[in-house]
Amino acid sequence: MSTVAAYAASSAKAPLERTTIERRPVGASDVRIDIRFAGICHSDIHQAREGWGEAIFPMVPGHEIAGIVAEVGSGVTRYAVGDRVGVGCFVDSCRECEYCERGLEQYCVQGMTGTYNALDRSGEPTYGGYSTAIVVDENYVVRIPDSLPLDAAAPLLCAGITVYSPLRHWNAGPGSRVAVLGMGGLGHMAVKIAHAMGAEVTVLSQSLRKKDDGLRLGADRYRATSDPATFQELKGSFDLLLSTVSAPLDFDAYLELLKTDGALVNVGAPEDPVSLNLFSLMLGRRSLAGSAIGGIAETQEMLDFCAEHGLGAEIEVIRAEEINQAYERILASDVRYRFVIDTATI
Ligand code: NAP
Ligand code: ZN
Ligand code: ZN
Repeated sequence: MSTVAAYAASSAKAPLERTTIERRPVGASDVRIDIRFAGICHSDIHQAREGWGEAIFPMVPGHEIAGIVAEVGSGVTRYAVGDRVGVGCFVDSCRECEYCERGLEQYCVQGMTGTYNALDRSGEPTYGGYSTAIVVDENYVVRIPDSLPLDAAAPLLCAGITVYSPLRHWNAGPGSRVAVLGMGGLGHMAVKIAHAMGAEVTVLSQSLRKKDDGLRLGADRYRATSDPATFQELKGSFDLLLSTVSAPLDFDAYLELLKTDGALVNVGAPEDPVSLNLFSLMLGRRSLAGSAIGGIAETQEMLDFCAEHGLGAEIEVIRAEEINQAYERILASDVRYRFVIDTATI
């Protein structure tokens, strides 16, 4: 075991504070990673405050991890000391079910092992990226291409893959009209990636405050959802509408923006349920779907795609003592566009 510094919440009502945690010894197939940067995902807040239900405390959040391999186990074949690597939302899965075999480990029938707020397969709690080091099985580690800076790459491990996977699955590309709802951490990466895939991209945001940024990141159009004209003028416009919104929405209004056979794919994870008028689906043969992060192989594909197109996240690097303040700014939709913790300050 080794003791490492971390930032943890001791309960759902407590702010995050500096502490220490134990990391397991490096096993035969493990790598030990010196964490350099950890992104702050809105999911960290949902979980640290028990918005999704009962959680495991103390909690060290963080599933957007970028760092350098510091030690490898005797049986490790893919990584060597000094490699630039990342870890995303899960650190294990059953490895033998239909979905694990297809590289869809996030849908493992036994459940993926979350990077934090989970129990690993030996029953020990997992602790995430707001810390200085982590020990992970090499099969759940990905390689960060040299051309991507580690700080701007960290958010790709969750925000990037969560939007890349559905954009690929629903065939965003030349000739498709994609709307991205919400321009926060996930949303701004969706704009960049959908644009790089060749789709025509419209941002639907609560206001026009971030319009210049949206157009700079690759959007063709930027509309405010607070303006009722947006819903009239864009009726029947999109093949794919990707919702990254962290709060419950009026899905009926958004389904009307789809063309016949269009799909509204939700990746936002609001804490409360939403209601739906099924006529919004029937009249237009529309689909409403969801998507969760992405598998290990697809995460590597996404990182390589981002490197090829020169895409990193737009980030604000913060010191560890600013985490609680950053949480409040995320809750106020005041993030441009991902906070990333410099773990040297923990
Ligand atoms: P974020 O940075 O806070 O972005 C969310 C954006 O949603 C905000 O920037 C805002 O965009 C919009 N928004 C917030 N409140 C709203 C409201 N009441 N009405 C309308 N729009 C609102 O969060 P994130 O880190 O991107 O995460 C977004 C959601 O995805 C979270 O719920 C998170 O838990 C979830 N998530 C899911 C997965 C998955 O696998 N499916 C993975 C990661 C995260 P504008 O300012 O542009 O309106
Ligand atoms: Zn996340
Ligand atoms: Zn499985």
